[in-house]
Amino acid sequence: MRRTMVAGNWKMHGTGASVAELIKGLSNLALPSEVEVAVFPPALYIDRVVAGLQGQSIAVGGQNSAQQAEQGALTGEVSPAQLAEAGCKLVLVGHSERRQLFGETDALLVKKFAAAQASGLVPVLCVGETLEEREAGKTLEVVGTQLGSVIDALGVEVFASAIIAYEPVWAIGTGLTASPQQAQDVHAAIRAQLAAKNSEVAGNTRLLYGGSVKAANAAELFGMPDIDGGLIGGASLNADEFGAIIRAAGN
Ligand code: PEP
Repeated sequence: MRRTMVAGNWKMHGTGASVAELIKGLSNLALPSEVEVAVFPPALYIDRVVAGLQGQSIAVGGQNSAQQAEQGALTGEVSPAQLAEAGCKLVLVGHSERRQLFGETDALLVKKFAAAQASGLVPVLCVGETLEEREAGKTLEVVGTQLGSVIDALGVEVFASAIIAYEPVWAIGTGLTASPQQAQDVHAAIRAQLAAKNSEVAGNTRLLYGGSVKAANAAELFGMPDIDGGLIGGASLNADEFGAIIRAAGN
């Protein structure tokens, strides 16, 4: 049985004051016990979010981590072991903004994924196609290649302790959402790709949808059979809206 998850990616948003406000709002939420909740603050704020949410069952994760677990000469990077020491349980790997704006390749992301797991973090592997790729009918090929690079390098069993987020690039931060059926079709293909190697892993791996999810469209998306929750960007910056999305996942 897969436990539904709702996770909030704060991206590079926030100030000390707004983060304090968000922590307060999240602390006041009544969370349905059947939904696992996580937030991914900017690295600088992780310590205070971990401390501020103590006692609340909301996990904290990093938005990115280095390709090696051990400390080293990687100016500007944060190692997954450092994230774990700070109280993180999860880390995003391969968010489309990292792929597109920072040139992260599948080969690099395999290393980041492995380093995260070696540090005891649960990687959330983000995959998704651009609008151009969708219009060219290449969605499943693109997503299949992104996922396949991890399966081929590390084995499908690594997904026993990982999560996959399908995030069509054209739906991220644009207000455009994949229809529930469009999202379901890709999620089903992802699960089939896992199942071709190991049906037990496929049955247990949580597949989140991300791309302009809000309270108004969450229930319909989360009602699809292969959608096990959501990765939420903009709407996770408002505790009330995020809370409404979490409640939609609990229904
Ligand atoms: C994201 O950044 O992962 C995301 C899904 O953003 P948004 O919900 O704002 O589209």
